Amino acid sequence: MDNRKHLNIPEKFAYIIRTGGANLRYSEFNVSYAIAVGEISYIALIGHDQCGMVNLISKKEQCVEGLVQIGWEPDMAKDHFMHFAPLFEIGNEIDFILSEVKRLRIRYPKVEVAPLYYRVDENKLYVIKE
Ligand SMILES: [Zn+2]
Repeated sequence: MDNRKHLNIPEKFAYIIRTGGANLRYSEFNVSYAIAVGEISYIALIGHDQCGMVNLISKKEQCVEGLVQIGWEPDMAKDHFMHFAPLFEIGNEIDFILSEVKRLRIRYPKVEVAPLYYRVDENKLYVIKE
């Protein structure tokens, strides 16, 4: 989901699902579709450092304020944040990527899933050793 980087991928090379925290739990149908209809057999799950989905509670005020500024009622904005933040909080980037990779491997046993980690300041992609 991060807007700091753009992936340069050739046309028709890959399905790309961008989500906060490399969290595919709420994009499962998109993944299933890519596998079943797009016939993909590999998933590169790319997380990154400095992820906004880490320590979400620290962004509560900023998020609520941003929603209020576009016209939301403060209580509605607070409730919205408190409802969804726990679902999207990932804790630690690397631990979350590894747990998500495990979950995807169980869900899609014939698909290879690779845990990758991007360091934003270095512009480098790493394979996470399991
Ligand atoms: Zn992120």
